[in-house]
Amino acid sequence: MREMPIAIIGAGMAGLAAGRRLAEAGREVVILEKEARPGGRLASETLAGLAVDAGPLYATAREPAFKDFMQAAVFAGRATGWAPRGKPDDEPWLIGLPTMSALAEYCADGLDIRTGLTVERIGHASEGYILQSEGAGPLGPFDAVIVAIAAPGAEPLLKAHGRPFERIAEVQMRPTLSGLFSFGAALPIAAEYLAGMPGIAAAARNRSRAGRAWQDEGEIWIVHGDGDVSQELMQQSDEAATARLMKLLADQASEALPAPISAKILRYPHARVDRPLGEACLTGGRGRLVACGDWCLGARLEAAFLSGVAAADAVSAGLAA
Ligand SMILES: Cc1cc2nc3c(=O)[nH]c(=O)nc-3n(C[C@H](O)[C@H](O)[C@H](O)COP(=O)(O)OP(=O)(O)OC[C@H]3O[C@@H](n4cnc5c(N)ncnc54)[C@H](O)[C@@H]3O)c2cc1C
Repeated sequence: MREMPIAIIGAGMAGLAAGRRLAEAGREVVILEKEARPGGRLASETLAGLAVDAGPLYATAREPAFKDFMQAAVFAGRATGWAPRGKPDDEPWLIGLPTMSALAEYCADGLDIRTGLTVERIGHASEGYILQSEGAGPLGPFDAVIVAIAAPGAEPLLKAHGRPFERIAEVQMRPTLSGLFSFGAALPIAAEYLAGMPGIAAAARNRSRAGRAWQDEGEIWIVHGDGDVSQELMQQSDEAATARLMKLLADQASEALPAPISAKILRYPHARVDRPLGEACLTGGRGRLVACGDWCLGARLEAAFLSGVAAADAVSAGLAA
């Protein structure tokens, strides 16, 4: 019988890792992504004409599959180490070059990714899976489908597909509100990285990160609010959020801080996994419908990558059965 492609919904780290794994195994893969570019939360934004990391500040690599991937990215010139002043531990930290998005681009290399497509329904017909996307009409048939989106989006898509996916409801994700701020001069803050301060989940001086472009005199700071602050500011104006994050940053400075020259506030409603599933992926549809994402294993890029690889292997096993 003719082999049909495998569809992957979502081109974040999990979906890209799944796509890469299946492509390496010789399968035809189509990745459908609702945004204009792959990467998901692994994103950068433009501030003061410069590309600045807007999501993860760094990756850690503990398991062999992700270590191999990151090592290959380093050899390809798409990643390097980051050891900022204020780093709290000895574990190596890795960042993408010239921004974190480079890790997504590197993982996406050679994959067939169709952007601007939001999948709204997963149907199953005798010839295989058919996906509904408003504007694009029906897509497929596909031999198998991997759903690689955040748990709150995966739940309604998979609701009609039976018991294995009911467990998605156990997962809890929380918001993060982040601010990117540019200043005319270096701030009087000794550390290059801050974490676990009151109200701040993490903050970084962009200049401390290799490969990042910066203005001669000024500098950029990235500030991620902690859970409570993010929750509180989520519905508030950009001005109110800027004032609050700047006050929290000022608490870490030795002198008063100047007002930022430019600021960008970003809201991630499902940023961080609070309570992960505790399994690498969820498999249904006789091994042909699989859900994955960071929400399976934890709030880290590596968790998303490993979940995507596990989903690809689950689909390969399902198709071979
Ligand atoms: C502010 C912030 C800071 C972070 N800091 C760190 C850090 O320092 N270190 C670290 O390791 N991790 C960090 N993380 C976590 C890390 O970013 C995530 O764990 C990881 O990027 C999740 O990848 P994913 O593929 O599971 O999900 P996502 O990146 O969310 O990818 C899902 C993709 O699916 C797409 N999509 C959704 N619905 C549909 C649909 N219906 N149809 C088509 N496409 C769809 C989305 O557009 C998205 O591209 C941080 C996250 C945030 C937000």
